Amino acid sequence: MNRSTNYGKFFRHPLTSLIQNSLLYPVQLYTIDKRLHFKLDREEQKMAHEDCIFCKIIDGDIPSAKVYEDDKVYAFLDISQVTKGHTLVIPKEHTKNIYETPPETAKELFSRIPVIANAIRDAYQPLGINLLNNNEPVAEQSVFHLHVHLIPRYGDGDGYTPNWITHTEDYTSDDLQAVAKAINEQIKH
Ligand code: 5GP
Ligand code: ZN
Repeated sequence: MNRSTNYGKFFRHPLTSLIQNSLLYPVQLYTIDKRLHFKLDREEQKMAHEDCIFCKIIDGDIPSAKVYEDDKVYAFLDISQVTKGHTLVIPKEHTKNIYETPPETAKELFSRIPVIANAIRDAYQPLGINLLNNNEPVAEQSVFHLHVHLIPRYGDGDGYTPNWITHTEDYTSDDLQAVAKAINEQIKH
């Protein structure tokens, strides 16, 4: 949805002239403007929700084994249970993946992860835990609502086998500096 287009429609509303002639114009405009943005945000979210199974899980339209919930974050068991207690932690606000995630949403999401990881540890005493976040199909993302996998580890052969090939020999320290510089130059806050 194009937010600016809808904003334009709002200013053509018949109430506009009435409000503009009012001494309360700045206050009223601010109030309505805030409400309009809230409404558009909800509509945009609703459109994104329509085909999203994780949004349906949050809304209770698809059942899940809930591990944790608050006003911003939902956590539930991954149906695949790669290892016992394998949990997905998701923001309630739909966001496709890490590229599209506002910092505030990331902050809220990640702030709950230590609490949930410790709860898994206390429940099942794993030897460790892997956090995994897949983004885009090439990186094995299959559900396009941001999620972090919490995969408790019980030892070799427990079900999770990260495939990690090192290329240390392929990079000089100058190469590493050049790669770091290329990324650093693209940092946008
Ligand atoms: P991804 O591959 O996108 O990183 O992870 C998606 C995860 O969602 C998979 O591990 C998959 O097992 C899990 N998943 C997919 N559909 C459902 C579902 O309906 N319920 C639950 N609990 N997990 C699901
Ligand atoms: Zn969603």
